[in-house]
Amino acid sequence: MRYLILSDVHANLEAFETCKALAQGKYDEVLCLGDLVGYGPDPNAVIEGVRGMARMIIRGNHDKACCGITDAEDFNDLARQATLWTRSELTPENLAFLRTLPEGPVMVDGFQMVHGSPGDEDEYIFGPGQALPTLRGLVIQTVLFGHTHFQGGFMITPAGRFQSIRCSSREEGLIAVLPLEDGARYLINPGSVGQPRDSDWRAAFAILDDQGRQVEYYRTPYELAATQAKMYHAGLPEPLIRRLELGR
Ligand code: ZN
Repeated sequence: MRYLILSDVHANLEAFETCKALAQGKYDEVLCLGDLVGYGPDPNAVIEGVRGMARMIIRGNHDKACCGITDAEDFNDLARQATLWTRSELTPENLAFLRTLPEGPVMVDGFQMVHGSPGDEDEYIFGPGQALPTLRGLVIQTVLFGHTHFQGGFMITPAGRFQSIRCSSREEGLIAVLPLEDGARYLINPGSVGQPRDSDWRAAFAILDDQGRQVEYYRTPYELAATQAKMYHAGLPEPLIRRLELGR
């Protein structure tokens, strides 16, 4: 089976549609690691688009805040403004749908989906400090995570060595292939579809191939200016509009 892994779409319809088009014909099922909404200008269309194609969607911290499960008190000012705007935009049906999203970890076909980390859906796995204890505690081989908006991940090799998985590249489309080896353990981050923060503004996703035993990382430009124009017209905060083109 080939799984299209989407994370942190953040209501960016142009980025989502471009990833979907590039992934067309390359996957059997879709898994989403949360944060469908927050920041971007198209929360309803993105929820409906991902919902229509995904086998499993777990919730992210912005999904929780935008549907009122949490109060966004711990968000910075800009994220909170975007949260309140999103709440006012969401249809009653989409609000209700966000409230039904399960909390990770969720097991799918032998691997785990989480938004932040297996122990805490809101924890950021940025480096060895969080990744190593998580990898050492794994009884399964592969965890899929998001939340940091950094494409790549972390692994322990069959020889027991810790490694960061980096896949920065100026290529377009398929930019890196990670073989999944017996005896190794993996934390895989597909990157953010709608708001990358690894200094590359282009939309990111991954495909996990459990028969071919590999993860493919993809990167694609999208109609950034269209997204930014919609944010501007929606009155979303200026720094959130600008950060999209910086990839931060
Ligand atoms: Zn996010």
